[in-house]
Amino acid sequence: MPDHTVDNPEFYEAHWRRTRTAHDPAVLTKAAQLVELVPAGVRSVLDVGCGDGTITAAMAQRFEVTAVDRSAAALAHVAEHSPTVERILASADQLPLADRSRDLVMTSEMLEHLPGPMLQAACRELARVARTWVLVSVPHAENVRRRFLRCPKCRLEFNIYGHLHSLDRARLTGLFGDFEVVQELLSGPAEPASLPAIEQVRQHYGQRWHWWPGLQVQCPACGNEQFAAPKWHAGNRFVDISCDHATRLWARWTGAHEQPYWITLLLRRRDRDG
Ligand SMILES: [Zn+2]
Repeated sequence: MPDHTVDNPEFYEAHWRRTRTAHDPAVLTKAAQLVELVPAGVRSVLDVGCGDGTITAAMAQRFEVTAVDRSAAALAHVAEHSPTVERILASADQLPLADRSRDLVMTSEMLEHLPGPMLQAACRELARVARTWVLVSVPHAENVRRRFLRCPKCRLEFNIYGHLHSLDRARLTGLFGDFEVVQELLSGPAEPASLPAIEQVRQHYGQRWHWWPGLQVQCPACGNEQFAAPKWHAGNRFVDISCDHATRLWARWTGAHEQPYWITLLLRRRDRDG
């Protein structure tokens, strides 16, 4: 059985064969926000993990964009939308580009998907290729457990969006050590405060897995695509209410509160030439 916490190229091919974001309002809003955050003077932009290219297309209206993705299916969509954009099939941790060869290197909703060692290697690569700026957007301090589903075939419990990491400003600035934060933007729908341990109880004993009728998802370990409604028992409701109550108590105790779903950071290289 393949391990979903190691690099899994086939998973992304399958994802981009069935996923289109060109009309997704959340992605279009994010695209507009990212374009606005690009500082004056930037001409060349590298979009790493461009997916089907909705953000790439918005960037390409103003800048000279190179789009990188490790999925050929994703790049085929980019070619369709943005035929003039340069496309490179590569993994984020091995960019076939020269040091400091693009004014700004950006990545949106990609880093949270990378297995641990790859995350660090990818950030080193983004930093290496960026002449001055890095623009990065990820879910903000996400409790990835909240959107877990259990595979009925192999019993793997996984985030349905493939998110492996919880990232925040401190974690990101650690990953981009040669850069400093110039701008921070929190945006997106409100995400309620939640604790992984409580969500785990809710899922295991209340059968509250992240599932809805018509959900299309593939188990990242065994490839299973058949997910049925979680079994319902009267006790589930009791667990659910108890978990809500425990979450409120924890939130009151710690001061945790709902927050916008995404964090976007604009970072500038400390040792700029010129
Ligand atoms: Zn499975």
